[in-house]
Amino acid sequence: MKMDKALIHIDYTNDFVAEDGALTSGEPGQAIHDEVLALTKQFHEEGQFIAFTIDKHVEDDSYHPESRLFPPHNLAGTKGRELYGELEDYFQSIKDSENVFYTDKTRYSAFNGTELELKLRERGISEVHLIGVVTDICVLHTAIDAYNRGYKIVVHERAVASFNQAGHEWALSHFKDTLGAEVI
Ligand code: ZN
Repeated sequence: MKMDKALIHIDYTNDFVAEDGALTSGEPGQAIHDEVLALTKQFHEEGQFIAFTIDKHVEDDSYHPESRLFPPHNLAGTKGRELYGELEDYFQSIKDSENVFYTDKTRYSAFNGTELELKLRERGISEVHLIGVVTDICVLHTAIDAYNRGYKIVVHERAVASFNQAGHEWALSHFKDTLGAEVI
């Protein structure tokens, strides 16, 4: 099968999902685990590109704008920054594939300050599938950047979640109505 679409993984880590995570989306985040894992396996088995774009912070970074907004989370080298649940083991088993890309990100959008766009362009990929957390922050900002760069966007409704249910629902309609995304 031709590689023509990419699965963009956003922040599905212990800090954002686990019960004791530093900035957890809690139950809604845990509830999407099986779907997140199934989509990851499906894309990998189809030979499609998968990008893991994972928030990274360092302790006491007084210049980082998030330091004023959120408690410390996804600190480099911590368990909190590892992928949640069975995804971590699955990622470890596929990470050396040339179709799998892992990048740190330090802002909400997966495009900001990362090589994501270069990786997509090298492969001629024009369609991005977004999964992860949280719907109305990092998934949203990534979708906005994808829109502005002209990508076709697909958001997997059962593989995104937020700690803010109203924000989650608003973002799903924004993807559709304003960013022209397919929400499936
Ligand atoms: Zn962050």
